[in-house]
Amino acid sequence: MPAVETAQLLPESLRSDFPILAEHVHGDQPLVFLDSAASSQRPLQVMNVVRDVYVRGYANVHRGIHVMSERATDSYEEARRKLQKFLGAKFDHEVIFTPGTTASINTVARSWGNANVGAGDEILLNPMEHHSNLVPWFQLAERTGAVVKHIPLTDDGRLDLSQLDSVLTERTKVLAVTHVSNTLGTVNPVAELARRAHAVGAVIVVDAAQSAPHLATNVVELDVDFLALSGHKMCGPSGVGILYGKESLLEAMPPFLGGGSMIGQVTLDGFTSAGLPAKFEAGTPPIAQAIGLGAAVDYLQSIGLERIAQHEHVLVEYAYEKLSAIEGLTILGPAPEHRAGLVSFVLTQPHAHDIAQLLDQRGIAVRAGHHCTQPLHDSLGITASTRASFYLYSTLAEVDALAAGLSEIAGMFRPTGRRRRRRKVEE
Ligand code: PMP
Repeated sequence: MPAVETAQLLPESLRSDFPILAEHVHGDQPLVFLDSAASSQRPLQVMNVVRDVYVRGYANVHRGIHVMSERATDSYEEARRKLQKFLGAKFDHEVIFTPGTTASINTVARSWGNANVGAGDEILLNPMEHHSNLVPWFQLAERTGAVVKHIPLTDDGRLDLSQLDSVLTERTKVLAVTHVSNTLGTVNPVAELARRAHAVGAVIVVDAAQSAPHLATNVVELDVDFLALSGHKMCGPSGVGILYGKESLLEAMPPFLGGGSMIGQVTLDGFTSAGLPAKFEAGTPPIAQAIGLGAAVDYLQSIGLERIAQHEHVLVEYAYEKLSAIEGLTILGPAPEHRAGLVSFVLTQPHAHDIAQLLDQRGIAVRAGHHCTQPLHDSLGITASTRASFYLYSTLAEVDALAAGLSEIAGMFRPTGRRRRRRKVEE
């Protein structure tokens, strides 16, 4: 058994904050939930806050001149300040509530992109990006005639920074990069990329969907221009996320969606925009969800992001060693010191979807498919992989259950002695 730094693990008692983890599935199988990278579970502390909003303090925000609207508005704006502190942003109006990472990145690509990117300009991406951080930039390139380039990857699934100078040029207008890959687990050097992007006059857009829930994030220290995250991956409700942007950039950008709340004045002929952050929050926002996201941030901070990262590091090291020992299993991505808390892999047999189904029968929930990273899978010469992802409530025993399940599945599909001999004769 691999050596484990158990002192670095979080207490298992916190699992009682997540009643869903005590569920049994398929009859009497205890649930082993290893799919938090797709969407995490949320603790009672968050669910209670959301419930309280509807029970005690719900009305539309920034509209009514009555006590319920004031209560809801105060809680909504307090949540914004919590997110500001969580991200280390200078101003609360640099924090925009959106429906999630996808919406945040689309806002930047549409609003900042349309205003700042033209024919022949370059957009720098890389093959490990989630479709949410590829497609909006492809669409921008289609609209403007800009050119998309990619930072190549190393064989172990990291950005090949030795090639950066050949693709990051004076023509680069934007470098969009994920902080943590949702498939490879790779942690990318965002501060260095920001410095290099700024040196050629480009802006950097960071997809923090898989990093903000797990690693302490400070937008000023990283010096990023835009950053996107999703509440549902970090113990918060679904339907809410954040777009962080530097004040000067957000102020210069035209609004993306038009409607209520984002206006200063409207006449029969036109409109003026509201100031930040309202300019980017058209329509009724996800009120209870945003307040719930504030509660999720309280919860994560009460544990400490450093401790969460340590906990997941122990689990991922343990999983890496145990899974590496399974015959026929290949782990995608770099060694544990370069990755966050997830492991994607392929078996020689069976297909990723069958693996997920067979694990599910054992109560183990994982994700299978291309995880919205089709170009990455193409470049690896595979169509699908299986992913186990950990969070603050995951345990060593759950990794053991995964490894045991996978050993069994790999064994079921391994050629038997007779079949193997026959194959040899045929060869
Ligand atoms: N980027 C990454 C790296 C992700 O993992 C995800 C979620 N799978 C997204 C973007 C999109 O997030 P959402 O669906 O919450 O908009």
